[in-house]
Amino acid sequence: MRFWIAATLIFIIASLTVCAIKANRSKKAIRKAVALLVCSTMPPVMGNLIIICSRDKLYSQIGYYIYFLGMDIFMYAIFRFTFEYCHITKHAVKSKRIVLFFMMLDFIQYIVNIFTGHVFDTRLIEADGADYYQLVPYLGQTFHRILDYGILAIVLIIFIVKTIRSPKIYAERYLVILITMVVVSAWETYYIFSRTPVDSSMIGFGVYGILVFYFSLYYRPLRLLDSMLASIASGLPEALYFFDMNRTCIWTNVLGEYLLDLKGNNLESAKEKIRTMFGDCPWESDEWNARKKVESEDGNKYYYLEKHGVFNETGKRVGSYIRVRDVTEEQEVLEKEKYNATHDSLTDIYTKKFLFETFAEMLKENPNIDYYVIYSNINDFKIVNDIFGNQFGDYVLKYIAGMIQAEMEGKGIAGRLVGDTFGMCIPVDKFNEADIVRELTHFTVTDGDIEHYVLMHLGVYRVIDRTLDVSYMFDRARIALSTIKDDYHTYIAYFDSEMREKVLWEQKITTQLSGALTEGQIVPFLQPIVDAEKKVVGAEALVRWNHSEEGFLAPYKFIPVFEKNGMIADIDRYMWRRACELLYQWNKAGIDMFISINISPKDFYFMDVGIEIRNIVKEFGINQERLRIEITETVMMSEQDNIMNILNDFRRDGFIVEMDDFGSGYSSLNMLKDMPIDLIKIDMAFLRKSENSDKAEIILKNIVRLSSELGLIALTEGVETEEQYQLLAGLGCSLFQGYHFAKPMPVEEFEDKYIKRRE
Ligand code: C2E
Ligand code: MG
Ligand code: MG
Repeated sequence: MRFWIAATLIFIIASLTVCAIKANRSKKAIRKAVALLVCSTMPPVMGNLIIICSRDKLYSQIGYYIYFLGMDIFMYAIFRFTFEYCHITKHAVKSKRIVLFFMMLDFIQYIVNIFTGHVFDTRLIEADGADYYQLVPYLGQTFHRILDYGILAIVLIIFIVKTIRSPKIYAERYLVILITMVVVSAWETYYIFSRTPVDSSMIGFGVYGILVFYFSLYYRPLRLLDSMLASIASGLPEALYFFDMNRTCIWTNVLGEYLLDLKGNNLESAKEKIRTMFGDCPWESDEWNARKKVESEDGNKYYYLEKHGVFNETGKRVGSYIRVRDVTEEQEVLEKEKYNATHDSLTDIYTKKFLFETFAEMLKENPNIDYYVIYSNINDFKIVNDIFGNQFGDYVLKYIAGMIQAEMEGKGIAGRLVGDTFGMCIPVDKFNEADIVRELTHFTVTDGDIEHYVLMHLGVYRVIDRTLDVSYMFDRARIALSTIKDDYHTYIAYFDSEMREKVLWEQKITTQLSGALTEGQIVPFLQPIVDAEKKVVGAEALVRWNHSEEGFLAPYKFIPVFEKNGMIADIDRYMWRRACELLYQWNKAGIDMFISINISPKDFYFMDVGIEIRNIVKEFGINQERLRIEITETVMMSEQDNIMNILNDFRRDGFIVEMDDFGSGYSSLNMLKDMPIDLIKIDMAFLRKSENSDKAEIILKNIVRLSSELGLIALTEGVETEEQYQLLAGLGCSLFQGYHFAKPMPVEEFEDKYIKRRE
């Protein structure tokens, strides 16, 4: 018996040595406390080994000393270990010092015992048929035991408290140590009180050292790890499903359970349920993702699914997992953004851009469907805003947009083009003119007390050229709309072959203009201007296009086209140049005639008219008085400060500024006093129409009189008869222009007739 105990103890000492070395090499923070604890278990075990093996009192006693002194070191070590293992920082240093102090005291009393013998002595007995020196404890030994049990009690209490207080998953790491400690202490206690000669409890003591070493340095509480991972996964904002090698679901988190309604943890059904819920996905393969829409009672839901394989270290597939994230909110934000980008913020129908894009797609996707493109415009919408205010104006727009949308529902698409214009695209066979006219062209909008009769006109273009840009299609519909003159009986106009011809012709001349300019097809014609004695004093330069196919084109044919696209600036710049060239040559020949040039109101948008004309005049060194500047009343009525400034500057620099076509438009006599002009050209045309020639005469007389009173030169244009001339001359008009004197003519002809002859 003694032999086997001794052999076991030797084995334990060897094991403890290995543990101590390993603990020392460990990287964990607690390693020092563990190494000290393991080392301190060795002396008591060794002491007992000596006691068991010795047949001699002296050796026995040495054994007892090593045992008890070692026990003191052990008690300090276990105390220190407990504090660190249980993470107690409060009073840690102080407590350890107190324990160390008592242990030292005990240590000293054992040393003193050699002389006083007050702690223990040994007595020879027989055990297992051999001599054995048994312990005879005295008072000092009781002190020793009180100390040891005291410390042990504290340590146990700490572990018990920790075990109870910690969350369940943590309790395990305290509980294992607590249990070994209780077992070993009980064993030791049994030995002490039963007075069994040979102390076998040391085996447990040694094992305790080894267990502490293992639990504190190597043991990974798997349950803790498991539940930690599981709780992290459960808290994730996505559903997780883990599948084993056979694609059976083995685990899911709370969200996963909820999503598939896996009540009672019926994981087997997960696989089928997930497939039914999300439909078509490459379920059998690993590594894929998909965005899925799921219709549910509380609206559509969107999910992002991701599947990944799980592989072990050798690369063998051991399972897989699927993550399912609810991306409904994301999707909604995305859709909202898309909606805002494609819908008009006021009327909630498509924006112009999106309408055009969508229609372009529709044309491509339905090559066999014929479409109408409709351009609609509210008559005098500006008045609605002016009279009833913008709020009602907005209300009208929303109301109309709603009507258009309802009319197009299931048939075509509609959008707001700009301001009060709306666009529609509808298949020809779904378009019912009578319905549309009844619904959309004249109706009353009422908002509270305000009631307004709305009149809407529609221009319709049937898409024949499908390659045409959608914006051009709407241009054509707009052109059709612009032909509606009779505001009250015609609501709808179709883009017809005549308009089509016109558009094509406009496109043609637009592409031809720059060539025409360089090739000299654009030429000035001159119409003489005479004084009261019928002497030619100057001329108006009037543009003609000597077109290669169409012969001479009159300005009314092409000027409006180029005023629309801004190319009028090129024509005028050219004409001004040509006028200056002529003036330069005439000046050299000693001819003092002037030339009037026409300036389009649009020129002011496309160039700096002031700089442009001054530069040409400077280039040819022309006297400013010779170049007269004709502007129309539309320019005058624009009331733009910068245009007024330009005209004032012209006058200040010595140019003569003329108002063309006075009386043909809206100009009033009252305007004359504020205008920065030197001359008015009274257009006979407006008088020619009049039946009542007496009244016409009175008007003419007054205009002429008023202009002379205002210090303006009066010129009458469109003079066709001698009587007209006589009348006007009699009224005091000083300059005349008209077919009666001469029609506009080529420059050479003019020079032949009026310059060379004079020479
Ligand atoms: P406008 O400046 O008022 O020019 C006078 C127009 O009246 C000319 O037409 C002329 O041929 C015509 N006319 C002259 N005397 C008579 C007459 O006794 N009876 C009738 N029935 N007509 C007469 P035209 O040359 O066809 O020019 C038309 C308009 O085109 C011009 O009106 C002017 O506004 C514009 N225009 C002509 N040339 C140019 C140009 O170079 N630049 C710009 N921007 N506009 C031009
Ligand atoms: Mg003119
Ligand atoms: Mg005129």
